[in-house]
Amino acid sequence: MRNKLDRRYYLDASDLWATKSVPKWDFHIHTNYTDGKASVQQVFERGIEAGLEVIAFTEHAEPWRSSTPDWFPNYVAEIERCRVSCAHQIKAFIGIEANACSFDGEVELTGAMREKSEFILGAAHRYPGLDGRKVADLSGPEAIELEYKTLMGLAQSTEIDAIAHIGATCAKYCAPFPLSLTREIIRSAAHNGIAVEINPVYHKPLAAFLALCADEGALVTLGSNAHGFGDIGLVVRALQAGLRHD
Ligand SMILES: [Zn+2]
Ligand SMILES: [Zn+2]
Repeated sequence: MRNKLDRRYYLDASDLWATKSVPKWDFHIHTNYTDGKASVQQVFERGIEAGLEVIAFTEHAEPWRSSTPDWFPNYVAEIERCRVSCAHQIKAFIGIEANACSFDGEVELTGAMREKSEFILGAAHRYPGLDGRKVADLSGPEAIELEYKTLMGLAQSTEIDAIAHIGATCAKYCAPFPLSLTREIIRSAAHNGIAVEINPVYHKPLAAFLALCADEGALVTLGSNAHGFGDIGLVVRALQAGLRHD
């Protein structure tokens, strides 16, 4: 059995919406083990500088994203080492961002990733069954349908803790993802106790997305989708600003 991130790090969207008090947490951060810029050590330094109290590393699980095949044990060891030395300044968790590989909520992870990850984010980066086609080759309606089916699978997955960036892949490559379908996915995730990520890169306006999660009684996680230095903690700053203007 893997060690799981404590349930208190999953926020009740209604409470967050009512109190507008955003904890200084960031649970979606990449490093230079795949396509991020900062090293694990630098994420710790930057996280502390940005005033974050809790972070989760969520490196991409897809093998093609990493230049070395056996990076995962090093990633785990480095996070474990840094979190001991930084224990008084910041709390950190080992996580992974896993791509859905079926419409039934299965994700692509190695045995070691399943065992060692304290936080598993499920994502729809490439839709199941594309058979070599790229998402960008799909028509808008096709991409919407596949994003919906993939995310509805993740919303009932027994393998993940939270769903990353709902609608993002479809919106990035093909067509805006409809709000009505976003709501359905959030509703199903809420029903199954799977958290929904609040992601400042893809959910705009961010406060409206939180309101939707609150409306559906969902649990949420805060995730910047950080790939650089300046975007570590972005979700906290963006959500605070969004809630102030609401
Ligand atoms: Zn992603
Ligand atoms: Zn990511």
